[in-house]
Amino acid sequence: MPEGDTIAYAANRIRPILLGEQPQIEARHGSLRGWGERLTGRTIEAVEPYGKHLFLRFEGDLTVHSHLKMTGSWYTGLQGARWRRAPRRAWLVLRAKGYEVVQFDGPLLELSTGLRSRIDRRVARLGPDILAEEFDYDRFFKRLREDDATRPIGDAILDQQTVAGIGNMWKAEALFDVGLDPWRPLSRTTDDEVRAVIEAVRPRMADSARGGTQMRERHVYRLPKCITCRGEIASRGQGDDNRTTYWCPVCQR
Ligand SMILES: [Zn+2]
Repeated sequence: MPEGDTIAYAANRIRPILLGEQPQIEARHGSLRGWGERLTGRTIEAVEPYGKHLFLRFEGDLTVHSHLKMTGSWYTGLQGARWRRAPRRAWLVLRAKGYEVVQFDGPLLELSTGLRSRIDRRVARLGPDILAEEFDYDRFFKRLREDDATRPIGDAILDQQTVAGIGNMWKAEALFDVGLDPWRPLSRTTDDEVRAVIEAVRPRMADSARGGTQMRERHVYRLPKCITCRGEIASRGQGDDNRTTYWCPVCQR
């Protein structure tokens, strides 16, 4: 599943193409009926990532909201270049300045009106954005410490209402970097330990948001051996969604 850095990377590529432009709109998916008429002729005022969400703000308080979940993707390229996915999988195409921005495979793509829309209300419930210029530790710790104290730290930091943008891979990487066992319950973590997790992952995700996948070097996620002690990496499903977590039972306590 794309994590916050992937969405920020997409936003960084989309912004120079669309910001301040009135793109040509092609709404190809059946669920986007009427989007062409509603969005054509409006200027894009902002391209905003927040956690795993992306918002395209059009003039007149119209917002396109996207969440890629497990399947969707954003593509940018020169007009007429070959797309990365089959054309029938394109839901939305925006064209400006000789470039194309294509949203493939949805699955969550919605258009909303007004500043106090249900989209904005939903975002207000999210935790602080892991990639924000200044991370809001106060809000993060408030949400974290209100959470069930028996919840393992590896599950708790995947909760988008506690911190927005960390997914399964960066969760495993961050906990490995600071030597914290993903199964340790919140009640047995100190604020300093948890703060170190956030501090470890932010620069790595920021590099990935700037440079893309080649900046995503893994230290533990889906690796067979520990890069530190050469022992075997353990893996097991964790949390309500049973996402597989990876950790070194020797180096992480
Ligand atoms: Zn190890």
